Amino acid sequence: MRILIVEDEPGISNFLKQGLEEEAFAVDVADNGKEGLELALSGNYDLLLLDWMLPGMSGIELTRQFRREFPETPIIFLTAKDTLDETVFGLQSGANDYIKKPFHFEELLVRIRVQLRGKVGSEDKLSLGPISIFPDRHLVLKGEEEVQLTQKEFALLEYLIRNKNKVCRRTRIIESVWDIHFDYNTGVIDVFINSLRKKLNLQKDEDYIQTIRGVGYMAKEL
Ligand code: CA
Repeated sequence: MRILIVEDEPGISNFLKQGLEEEAFAVDVADNGKEGLELALSGNYDLLLLDWMLPGMSGIELTRQFRREFPETPIIFLTAKDTLDETVFGLQSGANDYIKKPFHFEELLVRIRVQLRGKVGSEDKLSLGPISIFPDRHLVLKGEEEVQLTQKEFALLEYLIRNKNKVCRRTRIIESVWDIHFDYNTGVIDVFINSLRKKLNLQKDEDYIQTIRGVGYMAKEL
């Protein structure tokens, strides 16, 4: 799956590119409307993430022109504009969804998955030992039993399992699971990890979420 980001704030586009690449998307970035439209019209993308206010050409205008050639490709607006009129206008111009800045990466990811659902074909299912998670349905099972997790716990577990058998550094976890504006107090991860272990009822011989001292954590198949 290939995503085009058109966004003139490098802080946001870099953050998004990195996060989406970790989720196994291929990502291209344009920082102005004209270049964005040119890339978009190449037809290489499964989804567009468009800023609303862009130099060269607005996200709205880009959407109008793009829609003439590609009526089906999902478009999600990243926008600081949040009045009802503007939102309606954005959707009428041909966008499928929008998300307000500042946003949580995990929420954007859910919205992207919703738009790409059906394109992926089969349901997304990830597993780690007896643990299965279904991101589309926000469902976690241990064996046959459902485990209730908060959104953050879920996002953390999903991130670790997607990067299974690799060491996940605390800063990378924060960047992926928390949002752009989170202040880097990585101690919060430990609290969430403890809570995850408890809720998953991991026994001594079920060391599926391992602590890598001084570095971070690793989801490990035993
Ligand atoms: Ca902008």
